[in-house]
Amino acid sequence: MNEKNTNPIIIEMKNIWAGYEYESVLEDINFEVYQGDFVGLIGPNGGGKTTLIKVLLGLVKPYRGSVTIKGLPVEEGRKYLGYVPQLVEFDHQFPIRVWDVVEMGRLGARGLLRRFTTVDHQKVEGALRAVEMLDFFRRPVGELSGGQRQRVYIARALASDPELLILDEPTSNVDPQMSNSIFGLLHKLNETISILLITHDMSAISSYTKTIGCINRNLHYHGEKELTTEMIEATYQCPVDLIAHGLPHRVLPSHHEVKE
Ligand code: ADP
Repeated sequence: MNEKNTNPIIIEMKNIWAGYEYESVLEDINFEVYQGDFVGLIGPNGGGKTTLIKVLLGLVKPYRGSVTIKGLPVEEGRKYLGYVPQLVEFDHQFPIRVWDVVEMGRLGARGLLRRFTTVDHQKVEGALRAVEMLDFFRRPVGELSGGQRQRVYIARALASDPELLILDEPTSNVDPQMSNSIFGLLHKLNETISILLITHDMSAISSYTKTIGCINRNLHYHGEKELTTEMIEATYQCPVDLIAHGLPHRVLPSHHEVKE
């Protein structure tokens, strides 16, 4: 456990209960993200990771508890969040260029029916430079690799000038080398922006994020820097092989391990 974080708080969730119809998916979640954080949350499929993000974006209303973003209710505070959705298969014939995709990131701030300004232009250019994709600005998105497309979507989120970048499974559908390169990029971006990502990729999360939490209906997060046996046990209720900082090691004995 860590000493109290003294940086300004960005996200504060208190006793959040949320779900769909009659099923609770998130139960009594208490969660804080501070400026400068790089938080990774892992959890099994169906564990409520996406629902947590939806609560932060105001797409799912909790039925108990409170959420604030920079001290504001979600509806007002979500302008400080930049969201990068999961990479989905893309129609490679769809005629849209890299610049236009990133420019869409400015629409939230400025509204649909208005011209882009010099400021918008500068923000788009800055975002593309930050993800090292400026040279590709005229290229149709359909010609890019999965990893390059993911960089463009990160730039789209950055173009709105967020204080916290939220990423949903940023390395699903990209190969391991690309995955390392995306995490390397996020590590660099974290010098100026806070990051929250959710994934089920334990190897990446333990190597690149500053703090780690586990979510499976309940959230286990107290600013831990490494995955602990208790966290894994509480979340997955079974042994898991971990690759921590490039070194494979088993954190829990296997179900079938015979005690001598
Ligand atoms: P994760 O992102 O960790 O895989 P989700 O937050 O997507 O988990 O889902 C958590 C649970 O909520 C699952 O049991 C899922 O079936 C259910 N769920 C997700 N979205 C909906 C929805 N729109 N309507 C009803 N149930 C949903």
